[in-house]
Amino acid sequence: MSRQALARVVSEFSDKPFHARQLFSWIYGRAETDLAKMSNLPRSLRASLAERFVIAHPRVELRQSSRDGSVKYLLRLEDGKAVEAVYIPEKTRVTLCISSQIGCPLGCTFCLTAKMGLVRNLTPGEIAGQVTVLAAEHHLAANAYNLVFMGMGEPLNNYDQVLAAFHLLTDLEGIGIAARHITLSTAGVVPGIRRLARENPRPRLAVSLSATTDALRDEFMPINRAYPLAELFASLRELPLAPREKVTLEYVLLRGMNDRREDAHRLASLAGKLPLKVNLIPYNETWREGYAATPLESARSFRDALLDRKISASIRRRRGADISAACGQLAILDPATLEHPVSVA
Ligand code: SAH
Repeated sequence: MSRQALARVVSEFSDKPFHARQLFSWIYGRAETDLAKMSNLPRSLRASLAERFVIAHPRVELRQSSRDGSVKYLLRLEDGKAVEAVYIPEKTRVTLCISSQIGCPLGCTFCLTAKMGLVRNLTPGEIAGQVTVLAAEHHLAANAYNLVFMGMGEPLNNYDQVLAAFHLLTDLEGIGIAARHITLSTAGVVPGIRRLARENPRPRLAVSLSATTDALRDEFMPINRAYPLAELFASLRELPLAPREKVTLEYVLLRGMNDRREDAHRLASLAGKLPLKVNLIPYNETWREGYAATPLESARSFRDALLDRKISASIRRRRGADISAACGQLAILDPATLEHPVSVA
């Protein structure tokens, strides 16, 4: 429930608006699900609420720790389905990578999540709940971490619920994450980008590009057939940016397919004068046939070709690949064999 919806519910039992605020802060700020423990709320209010409502966060079913310190969580939801989220410690801060859908409908050919197809959308509570649970697990203070919608799913295909979760997460009475610390990554759902452009506040935007011609992008990312490059970049140029804000372009480097010099030059031309930074992601193993990672040396030349054209660019460090938690690897794999997807139902 949003804070407003929660306030309506509480107002049926209490004439004190701050009771709703306290409840909201217990649930989201402190990850408390037990009404009995919410000691600053009147006993009678807690009893009435307990008769009619349950508070449920996703339940941690499995934790897998990477050698590099990342931890992948398998979270069980109320209907028995499951979703994955990843804790990624970095030198100066932590990043939490969360999912917006179970599975994904977009069918990008290099991505393992795509193999699951779309199982279902996540609710705002299930999206914000991933953050609440991971923050509690790692004792993270709000604003001690960045949040990225880069887990399973296409966030802009679950627009309303993702935005509702964004409002839950940024609410100062709850977790209170700063909007600028939240990045939403899309495969290029142009109507969603246009809608997002009208939101205030809104998360920062990252767009997964991975190809610089429509022919190649049509092949890797079928969404491009609906929203080709020209339309995608037109929508990015219309996005009102905050001072110093940049759009991130993610680019999965696939050996011999999209990692040549001319790709870098086309990418620079597409970028034009847009305030953006390019994040190069060497392909992560997905047991999908036909792809290999661009060797680091070639990835560096690709980056340097962009830098020469005055495009800000960096190579994303691979994290959690040994537990299948790196980009494109979230697919609820069997922890024993790390191969066959486990049942999500
Ligand atoms: N659907 C959204 C959110 C997922 S973000 C989107 O596409 O942006 C996941 C990121 O991982 C995307 O940038 C995607 O292109 C990238 N990715 C997918 N498969 C990958 C793989 N095998 N190796 C490296 N990156 C991959």
